[in-house]
Amino acid sequence: MMGFDAERYSRQTRFAPLGPEGQGRLAAARVAVVGCGALGSVVAMALTRAGVGFLRLIDRDLPQLSNLPRQVLFDEADVRAGLPKAVAAAGALQRINAATTIEPAVEDLTATNAAALLHGVGVIVDGTDNFETRFLVNEVACRVGLPWVHGGAIGAEGRVLTIIPGRTACLRCLIPEPPAAGTLPTCDTAGIIGPAAFVVGAVEAAETIKLLAGHDATAGRLLVCDLWDATWRTVDLAPLAATGCPTCRRADYPWLDGRLGGRPIPLCGRDAVQVPSAGGGIDLALVADRLAAIGPVVANRWIVRADVEEGVQLAVFADGRAIVTGTREEARARAIVARYLGA
Ligand SMILES: [Zn+2]
Repeated sequence: MMGFDAERYSRQTRFAPLGPEGQGRLAAARVAVVGCGALGSVVAMALTRAGVGFLRLIDRDLPQLSNLPRQVLFDEADVRAGLPKAVAAAGALQRINAATTIEPAVEDLTATNAAALLHGVGVIVDGTDNFETRFLVNEVACRVGLPWVHGGAIGAEGRVLTIIPGRTACLRCLIPEPPAAGTLPTCDTAGIIGPAAFVVGAVEAAETIKLLAGHDATAGRLLVCDLWDATWRTVDLAPLAATGCPTCRRADYPWLDGRLGGRPIPLCGRDAVQVPSAGGGIDLALVADRLAAIGPVVANRWIVRADVEEGVQLAVFADGRAIVTGTREEARARAIVARYLGA
């Protein structure tokens, strides 16, 4: 047999540019999706439904009610259960397609773990919400020569760029100077409508399917759309690719080397602060016991979560990170972690 259910994918294989051979490639493919929020949910859902064989979902956060207008893999029960997004998404995806292997990674992608988390896949897809993580992904992709699909959505606007290191422009070719933290609009400040994320996620999924099927001739064209103004345009970045940039031409990796970044990355769309691990993992059972003295605790093998003060929620992850919801002040978040974890 050809490694997939012929009847299930008959409408895809009938699409001549994909065909049975392309479908076979999807079944054998391994893809990493970085971020499982608005874009990552749509990408992961589309690729799972399309019959991609393996997906690694990398996400550091928990679903919130304010995510539900656009993060299609989650529902109210997931918010109550306190499952990490990567785990809740894996469950939803496995119900859609049992033949796809889903590997959730409840982790914050950093310069330290990026290479390991992005190892062993053929394509990386951007489902993240911040430029720090995107530049890390770009550098890993350029270093190992891995194609990746960049996408972003804000307000009613979206953009998508498929990057093939060494052939097309890379993210740094497009954005030579990383924007200073807080200078760009984010979904916190500018908001976002669900359809903008759906469009971008759908285009990213299509680009991924094309790469996996070997149709990479259209890579390197930046799509920019605005759903409110009903405008769609593509910009051929071939002139940028012709010169290249220090990262894709001279193996300069400032984010991976730690010359740039390294600050805690704010959680977009969340009134929350992530406090990094003090080092190593943490005994969640012990944390659960301690927090149970304060009030009701949600505990599972990935997190322990409790309302620790009026309007403030503390979630502790097995890798030792904590997310404090209900504040945007880093000092206050650190104080709360110290108070309740005794750090
Ligand atoms: Zn470049």
